[in-house]
Order: sequence, then C-alpha cells, then structure tokens
Amino acid sequence: MSGKFWKGHSKYRSSKNPDGKVEIPISDVDFQKGIKEGTFVKPRHKAFAVLLFYSAIRNGEALRVTRENFSTSPEGDIIFDVGERFKKTRYRKTCPKCLDPWNSPKASFCKCCGTDISAVEAIKVKTKTTRTAPLTLPISAAHMDILQDAIRSTGKGEKVFPYHPNTAYNIIHRVWNYPHLFRLSRITWFLSHKQTPIQIKNWTGLSLAAIDYYTGLVDTVEMGKSMGNLR
Ligand SMILES: [Zn+2]
Repeated sequence: MSGKFWKGHSKYRSSKNPDGKVEIPISDVDFQKGIKEGTFVKPRHKAFAVLLFYSAIRNGEALRVTRENFSTSPEGDIIFDVGERFKKTRYRKTCPKCLDPWNSPKASFCKCCGTDISAVEAIKVKTKTTRTAPLTLPISAAHMDILQDAIRSTGKGEKVFPYHPNTAYNIIHRVWNYPHLFRLSRITWFLSHKQTPIQIKNWTGLSLAAIDYYTGLVDTVEMGKSMGNLR
C-alpha cells in the first residue's frame, strides 16, 4: 500500500514502523493470534485490547471508562456507553488569498491557489465534543468474555483500565502495532461490511469528512482485490 505512509509522523514512528504511520488494518486473524500468543504483562491487558479492537474508541477514551460505563443487554451482550468523545485540538492556517482553511499547520503552500502560507500563523482550534449512542459489543464475538470478566471484577466507580497512557500504548504495541491501528481496522472493517458512513459516524463520533479518508483506503484495497480474477 504505497502512499499510505506519513513519513516523519513521529507519534507513530517506532521500531515496528521506522517510516512512521502505516495504514494496514489488523485482521480478525491477526487479532486473535495476538490474544492467544502475544505477550501480556497482566491478564487484564488482554481485556484492554479486546475493548479497543471491537469498540474502535481512542486509547484515551478507554482509559477513563469505569464499570458504570458498561451494562448488559437482555441478550447478554455488552452495552458500552462511551460518554463524551474526545475533543481534539487542531491547528489551522487560513490562506490569506482564497481564505481556505488548512488543517496542516506545517503547510507551506495553499493547495487551492498556491499562495505561500509558510509565514501564516497556525491557530489552535478545538473541535466540538460529541456523544455517541451506546455501542453493542456482541458477547459471541471472539474473546469478548475476557472483557466481560474484566468489567465484572472492577469495583464500583473504579476505572476498568487504570493505566498511564504509555502503559496503554505498550500493551497494544508489544503484540500488534500502535493502538490507533485498531480504530482504523474497525472502521475499514465496517466499511467493507457495508455499514454506511453515517452509521460509522454514530459509532465513532468521527466527522463524515474524516470517514471519507477511510472510505478511500477501503476503496483502494477492494480495487486491488478486484484484479484477483484476471487471468
Ligand atoms: Zn489559497
């Protein structure tokens, strides 16, 4: 998948991705293999991976959840009320000529009119908070019982995953890759299972513009696969 690397994106650069962000989804098989064979320092760390993999929530969103964020449906599925979704801070530059806003603080030239915007100051903007409807996590899904056990053994009002963000990162990175890849994997999975962008917006709290980016990823994968029948 060439062109899907953001070189120099330090947040994602590690020994596993020396080039920065890599956008290859984690398959169900890779996930299950990791749960069964991967290294976890504490048994509860597996439950953290299960929650991230199925719910597609952000690392930080998972770290604040308490036992009270979870309930059980009459069918026995886990109902997960994520609560307020993370506010993201973005940096925005506005092209002085065409007034188009750019979300890339390091942009040197306006993509529309080519005006030099290297000297334009990037402004901090907070995106609106959103709430999503509670998510249903099917108890029949592979390893969901691990998450259920972790929730049940958490005290009232206590965090289910009381970890430092670095620990959370390491739990996932030790076995697979960086945590955000779970989010990408679930979104692309939903798209290839014919869930609509609106449905994915309701699940993730992402904007439709952001989901568009993932749609593009799935499209290229399926376009590639469509050539598999060529002889
Ligand atoms: Zn412009």
